[in-house]
Amino acid sequence: MQSYSLIAPAKINLSLEIIGDRPDGFHELVMILQSVELADIVEIQASDTQEIYIHCDHREVPCDRTNLAYRAAELMCQTFPEVYANYGGVVIKIKKNIPVAAGLAGGSGNAAAVLVGINLIWNLGLTRPELHDLAAKLGSDIPFCVSGGTAIATGRGEKLDSIEDLADIWIILAKYDNISVSTPWAYQTYRQQYGDSYIKDPTQINSRTAAIHSSPLVKAIAHKDSTEIGKLIYNDLEKVVFPEYPQVAELKSAFSTQDVLGTMMSGSGPTVFALCDSENSAIAVKQAVKTLINDPHLKFWVTKLSNNGIQIGDS
Ligand code: ATP
Repeated sequence: MQSYSLIAPAKINLSLEIIGDRPDGFHELVMILQSVELADIVEIQASDTQEIYIHCDHREVPCDRTNLAYRAAELMCQTFPEVYANYGGVVIKIKKNIPVAAGLAGGSGNAAAVLVGINLIWNLGLTRPELHDLAAKLGSDIPFCVSGGTAIATGRGEKLDSIEDLADIWIILAKYDNISVSTPWAYQTYRQQYGDSYIKDPTQINSRTAAIHSSPLVKAIAHKDSTEIGKLIYNDLEKVVFPEYPQVAELKSAFSTQDVLGTMMSGSGPTVFALCDSENSAIAVKQAVKTLINDPHLKFWVTKLSNNGIQIGDS
């Protein structure tokens, strides 16, 4: 049976606003999500047994049932028991290029790749919306990771509206390899500190959610106005992560002294990104910030925004 090598890109938030609580315990979010070219490689093939096997080259990533890629395979086995009985289990090999627990949705991307990969090796013929529905059962970011590009995400992040793709913007990602931020911690802390200001009225939540479609950032994206985009990027979670991790705040300050379109923390952090007009400019900014901070734990990636979700790579 065929095996597939899938490219699973990282994700950043161009905006992240927390507007309220949901009855299911999650937050009501209004976000603009964006794929970047930095990607993990997820190989998937049939196993000789009914088992699901995970191999990963990164020591901080679990290879058991707690791996999101494992849970994606398990969901496919449960959803299509007859096909599973016929084809057997899968072997999943993950080559990690995306930093772990970085606010870049690395695990979510791996899970999205497994859904797409099993759809291929089992010849299920699932459509994009069907894959999105399965993905939403696993995690809020996973539907976006399936399709990628540039999208408005609302609800708990699983309701997607694709918008104009952004091409030709370069990005520097920077992360301390000795700092990681727990996503649940970031959201819980935000609730503790800012919960009083949440919108309670469902009608107001709906109108606040609808307003994103005509927001200045969405207009700037439609006009491919990179200068405006750089000025308008926004992330509520900086308010809780920066006081707890001052180095992350200093990293953003260092980027903001450089010739960048804009700089911000991605998702729940601690990765900070900066947008640039050209590769040369991105490399120069990276070098300048590296010299300014001079910490061996600070790692950089220079890459581009991407229009792609999960793609089939070279087997
Ligand atoms: P998000 O932005 O979606 O919150 P993240 O980029 O901050 O995600 P991940 O890299 O997905 O974080 O990892 C978060 C935790 O999930 C890690 O500490 C790791 O132990 C666990 N994990 C489970 N499966 C994976 C996976 N396939 N890849 C990376 N981490 C995984």
